[in-house]
Amino acid sequence: DTIGGNLARVIEAHPEREALVDVPSGRRWTYAELGADVDELARALLARGVAKGDRVGIWAVNCPEWVLVQYATARIGAIMVNINPAYRAHEVEYVLNQSGISLLVASLSHKSSDYRAIVDEVRGNCPALRSVHYIGDDSWRDLVSSASAVGPGEPELRAAELSCDDPVNIQYTSGTTGFPKGATLSHHNILNNGYFVGEMIAYTEQDRVCLPVPFYHCFGMVMGNLGATSHGACIVIPAPSFDPAATLRAVQQERCTSLYGVPTMFIAELNLPDFAAYDLSSLRTGIMAGSPCPVEVMKRVVSEMNMAEVSICYGMTETSPVSTQTRRDDDLERRTGTVGRVLPHIEVKVVDPVDGVTVPRGVAGELCTRGYSVMLGYWNEPEKTAEAVDAGRWMHTGDLAVIREDGYVQIVGRIKDMIIRGGENVYPREIEEFLYGHPKVADVQVVGVPDEKYGEEILACVIPRDPADPPTLEDITAFCRERLAHYKIPRRLEILDGFPMTVSGKVRKVELRTAYGS
Ligand code: ATP
Ligand code: MG
Repeated sequence: DTIGGNLARVIEAHPEREALVDVPSGRRWTYAELGADVDELARALLARGVAKGDRVGIWAVNCPEWVLVQYATARIGAIMVNINPAYRAHEVEYVLNQSGISLLVASLSHKSSDYRAIVDEVRGNCPALRSVHYIGDDSWRDLVSSASAVGPGEPELRAAELSCDDPVNIQYTSGTTGFPKGATLSHHNILNNGYFVGEMIAYTEQDRVCLPVPFYHCFGMVMGNLGATSHGACIVIPAPSFDPAATLRAVQQERCTSLYGVPTMFIAELNLPDFAAYDLSSLRTGIMAGSPCPVEVMKRVVSEMNMAEVSICYGMTETSPVSTQTRRDDDLERRTGTVGRVLPHIEVKVVDPVDGVTVPRGVAGELCTRGYSVMLGYWNEPEKTAEAVDAGRWMHTGDLAVIREDGYVQIVGRIKDMIIRGGENVYPREIEEFLYGHPKVADVQVVGVPDEKYGEEILACVIPRDPADPPTLEDITAFCRERLAHYKIPRRLEILDGFPMTVSGKVRKVELRTAYGS
């Protein structure tokens, strides 16, 4: 089915159920109302000359209009291009030109960035860009009101010309390891993925899904928006961008049954000084994903946030995104210590990163995935596509993983993050997991930094629980000495009050390496 076709069926089945709630503004949509607004916006886009295959950009923080643009573009076969809210002028210009965006919908501002000023600055260099509409001002109202120029049956006619395999979305990767690449995804890719992810946590139209994760990222728009709506569940927007207190307030006020987050978001919520004051009794499930999910944090989410059925997903933008997921009835060890097993209709294998030969179960190597979820390709970058997706349609993830005897997958780390110290391979993840158990450590990142003697040396960057009483290097080494091999013990320590992050909530280890590498 196409995304528009799926939404139409959900609307028909549950017209009166709530589909979307924006907590900051108090605005609410039932499925019937959502359908009507999507239809109006689809007609408006047609009136503005947006045709099948045209690129419509969305550069916005989380808000209901984001969701409307997502479904309206899908309905008429346009390709929505998500633009990272943190981007500055030169990055926005790159994306506008790289994907050839003709119509852009943008927020007015985000944090200290005035989006209108940035667009005005780059517009002269973006020949394809014809019009820009800012959510919340007259240019948006103008866009919507142009719907009246197009007949009511028109979106229906356009929908009939679409195929599930048409591209519907270009998502740039997080840029954790380098320059972001535009993964081009079809209806089939992302609708199925959202649906199956929701299926694994048993979504029904009774569920209310709190989404503090950014919509621009696949976690928000596929696992979140499509995951919820394909099961008739309700999307709850707690705030325009992540705010731990606003998130828990939204869960309480809207009686959410599910909550998403990258590990750092859950850590921030659990560490709120008034954490105990929130009523989280409505929660049952949720998803943690995006980067390594520490076992300790998972356990706290289960026991302190009432999320007995919380699930870990592993995936990447290029694979729609999810490849493996824990199941509702998995025991605590599998639920917290693995990224689950492969989703239906997807294959996984682990290969030797050097010769590409498949390794036995239990042995670490590069994880490769194949199935309906693999992207169509990187937009206009055939060489990069060929590097990532081989002739057999296997996606090479760049992640090191082990497939255990029981079929559950463990992510050992990213190939690019692996530290080679004196010829020994060291996986930062293992040391981080261990240091989470230190009483003075609130959060930790381990990176390799250049070293004359060993090639690379191990640096632990620690956010202390109590800034007035941070751990010393002696504390850390003494703690490690009893339980870790000597070559895995960090020889350097930096005490920080935060990590450099991507908007999708991932730590940019590259920046830690360059900042403290000398
Ligand atoms: P870029 O490709 O631009 O460097 P990125 O890889 O971070 O950025 P995404 O597609 O958002 O961009 O993230 C996918 C990556 O996130 C995976 O390749 C993996 O390294 C990591 N990841 C996702 N989920 C998990 C998880 N549950 N456990 C460990 N790592 C995860
Ligand atoms: Mg990547």
